[in-house]
Amino acid sequence: MDRMTSASPDPAPSTAPASPDQEDVLPRGGTVRPITRWGDPVMHRVLEPVTEFDDALRELAADMVATMYAADGVGLAASQIGVDRSIFVFDCPDDDGVMLKGVVCNPVVHLPEGKDRRLDDGDEGCLSFPGAFVPCARPDYAEVEGQGLDGSTVRYAGTGLLARCLQHETDHCKGTVFGDRLPRRSYKKLAKQHDAAAEEFPPGWPA
Ligand SMILES: [Zn+2]
Repeated sequence: MDRMTSASPDPAPSTAPASPDQEDVLPRGGTVRPITRWGDPVMHRVLEPVTEFDDALRELAADMVATMYAADGVGLAASQIGVDRSIFVFDCPDDDGVMLKGVVCNPVVHLPEGKDRRLDDGDEGCLSFPGAFVPCARPDYAEVEGQGLDGSTVRYAGTGLLARCLQHETDHCKGTVFGDRLPRRSYKKLAKQHDAAAEEFPPGWPA
């Protein structure tokens, strides 16, 4: 994701697994690319699975990381730089302010059900519809499973903003943008903010 301004108001036990080597998780040295906006077809279709865990994939991830940081985001999916591949990167705090970062290819999200399912209606934003934030109800805890850049299985879990981010980015890989999840009135509010901020985010931003 993109940008989000508020975290879950209900602290939950943090179960985010600490990676043994968080420093080297995100590939660096990439190029900042223009961010693709909602409305471009690549944003609204299920992305192609990653099958080759090669240097090209690592270069793509490095560009995604560079672009995410340039745009001040906490997560970014490949479609957001116009690439049809099911992969996202993130660097995001959980409900306790603990930062977790990673790369997830072919993500599958697991959400709490039944009595464990609690919704957090914190604000949400998207770098592909910049300058706008509205509340979006989502489960306050999420787990994502997929593959890392070397093809091995990775799992990330978290609360607060991290839970929201993991769901938001997995949605991108499935062709869903968070505007699709909003009631009509909220969507209108979002669009109004976005239109008002258009000058701050010219075509090509943040490259
Ligand atoms: Zn987004």
